[in-house]
Amino acid sequence: MIAHEALRISNMTRSASGTIEQPGTNVAQKSGLNYSILDAGWGLFLNVLRAKAESAGRVVVAVNPANTSRTCPRCGHCAKENRVTQADFRCVACGHTDHADVVGATNVLRAGLALLTP
Ligand SMILES: [Zn+2]
Repeated sequence: MIAHEALRISNMTRSASGTIEQPGTNVAQKSGLNYSILDAGWGLFLNVLRAKAESAGRVVVAVNPANTSRTCPRCGHCAKENRVTQADFRCVACGHTDHADVVGATNVLRAGLALLTP
């Protein structure tokens, strides 16, 4: 089984320059991110992944990414304060620490498994 975040590509690629009433910040940086997201072709990648997984008898599950990066995989405490930096996760309730990407991946996998459980 393969679980992945159901990324909202349209939100992530919204114009970085904003509007006249609400101009964007870090426009060049965000434009670069938008370009890389589009360039990577997530939709195409996921289509190929699903086809390959199906031919290998595997299931691909898209999960809601909400709170996957701020929920403690040990105790379940969910708080934005758990996320110390982009890379560091430290649970303010139980003290569990790990790389934020490992925490996110663990929570996405659990959410995917939960969706498959009848
Ligand atoms: Zn915890």
